[in-house]
Order: sequence, then C-alpha cells, then structure tokens
Amino acid sequence: MLQKHNEMKKREFLKVLGIGTIGTIAFATGIWSCNGSGRKPGHKTLAWVHPNQPPDADKTIDEWKLLLGNLKRWGVDSILLLTGNKSILDQVLPLAKEADLELHAWIITMEWPDEITMKEHPSWYVVNAKGESCIDKPAYINEYRWLCPSNPEVIEFTKKRVSELCVYSELAGIHLDYIRYPDVVLAAYHRAKYDIPQDDLVHPQFDYCYCGICRNQFKQISGLDPLTITDQATNEAWRDFRHNSITKLVDEIYDQVHKNGKMLSAAVFPTPALAKMRVRQDWVNWKLDYVMPMMYHKYESKPVEWIETATREGVEALAGKFPLYSGLHLYQLTPEEFGLAASLSAKAGASGLALFTGNNMSEAYCRFLGKKI
Ligand SMILES: [Zn+2]
Repeated sequence: MLQKHNEMKKREFLKVLGIGTIGTIAFATGIWSCNGSGRKPGHKTLAWVHPNQPPDADKTIDEWKLLLGNLKRWGVDSILLLTGNKSILDQVLPLAKEADLELHAWIITMEWPDEITMKEHPSWYVVNAKGESCIDKPAYINEYRWLCPSNPEVIEFTKKRVSELCVYSELAGIHLDYIRYPDVVLAAYHRAKYDIPQDDLVHPQFDYCYCGICRNQFKQISGLDPLTITDQATNEAWRDFRHNSITKLVDEIYDQVHKNGKMLSAAVFPTPALAKMRVRQDWVNWKLDYVMPMMYHKYESKPVEWIETATREGVEALAGKFPLYSGLHLYQLTPEEFGLAASLSAKAGASGLALFTGNNMSEAYCRFLGKKI
C-alpha cells in the first residue's frame, strides 16, 4: 500500500517536472529523508530556527518539544538556532539533545546595530567612500550599522562572542550569518522592496570600508590611499583587500572554534560570483566545515530551476574543499517546488539542504522529500 502510495507520488512529481524518467532525479528514493535507505553517506538536512517566530512569541518547553520532534521526524539532522543571547542555549540545548538533533549557534556577525557599542566604539564601524560612518548615515535601512572586519578590536570582539558560546559542551558548532560587508549593490527584489533606485554599478555611498584602519592597512600593502584613488570601484587590489579582510576574520574564527572541538559553517550569498560582487564574500576560499549558500531564487528574479545552476557553480568552485548545503527559502517555495528544488540541488552535487526556516517546515513540504509520514 505504502509502496503504491510512493509510486503515485513519484509519478505526480515527474508530472510536475515534465520528465519521464527517474534515472537522473534523486526524488522519492529517500536521498534527503531521515533514515532513508537511499540516502548517501554524509548527506544532511539542517534547519535555521528562530526562537521567537512568530515575532515576540517565546516558545514554551512543550512548543519546543513539538517543533524539535517534528523536525527530527521530517528528516532534519541539525538545527541552526538564532542565538541572540546565551539564555536560549540554556533552554534549547537539552531539548535538542533529547530530540537527537545537533545544535549550532547561529549568530549575526558583522551587522551590529547596538547602541552601546556604537557609543563606546564608533571607530569599529564601517565608513563609506564618501567618508561617512554607517553610524551617522546607515545604508538602506536603520539597522545597517556594520562592524569593520579589518579592525583588530572588532576581530577580538567577534572571537570573544564566539568563545563565550563555545563553552557549551553540547554545542556542535557556530554558524556565521551576515559575515560580510554591507551590500555594495542590492538584488532587484530588495531595490523594489525598499524603493532604492540603484543599478549594478558601485556607488560611493554603498562602498565600504574606508575607515582609518582600512586605509592604513591598504597603504602599507599598495602605497595607495583608497579614499583618493580614482578607480575605487574597479581597482583589483583594493577589491581583493576587502575580500581578504573577511576571509581572514573567518579563518581566525575557524581556528578558534576548532580549538574548542566545534564546527564552523556560514550562510552566504548564492553563488561565488554574486557573493564577491554584492557583499565581498570570497567564501570558496574560507576555512569552513560546510557552507550554506542562500539559494533564494525570488530575490534573484529567477525560476526554481536556477537553484540547480547556482548549486553547481558553488560545488564546482569548491572542488570538494568542504560540503555545500543548498539553502532553500520555504516561504518562496510551494511544497511541489520545494521537492523540485531539493532534487535539483542533489543533482547539482549538494551534500545536503538547509531549510529557511525550520519553523515553517511542515508535513506538506516533507511529503515532497519522499519521507514516509
Ligand atoms: Zn574599515
């Protein structure tokens, strides 16, 4: 009966896909599913989890147990728990263990609109090519107050944040989000959403960071002051300096996290090229245990099928350096499209999926992963 049901699902799926053969598609064989016999060794499903979704609704213990139990049942191996303060780890770590789920602390890294830090350490914050600090003139939205990755005090501050989390012995790892510069250019979707007239060129008010430390460090390398060069937007050495600045920070965090016996992962922009161009993330060259590019096709005005292309670009660029898990935005996908996106990710060589968010996962989505429910 169950087999018949699965066969039916398989046919429905193929209809959605518009193809007649199952040979190349990793659907309904359990590739992503929990305990599925077809699942490849090392393949994982992770889920980003908000502690208070819907907003301002702190979960009770029973609500946590229900969510974590469901995620486990739906084939999730690990949760990436948004960790604003440590108390959430005190609450959820024991429950995750009980549910047999690995837990990673998901942190917002460089975007740090904290009033006290801005007041006490204004020099920690990025400055644009017009010489304006993001404290005075944040780009795009008020929360866009970002720390400068070149500043040694910022590096120490960030490592301290991470080390305070690493004391939790049950914690599996640290997951870095917003590990980047502010957007040099926004995707078309966000330009429309925030009504920001912008093209694909680099504009000085969105071009960071020209703080004293960045200028001095670059001068030492090149003899040039980035604030006065005429080719700020295209100067390769200046562009590379900023790629390297984020890369060095990630690498330092990696060493520290590993010293504590934990893993390091990161949420990044969807393809290596887009990540470098938009937010100066050269994530292919970072030290990581695995990476979750956010394959959010609607932000890119692309069809679901683009997820396969984007996944393949990342997998090929990494060339086996570390695993890539395709980040899928559940709010942008119907259950049918989710099944398609998962299958195309597998086809393109992803080692797993990362669900945004686990809070939005459901039986309906799960059915399209081929999981028996
Ligand atoms: Zn700087």
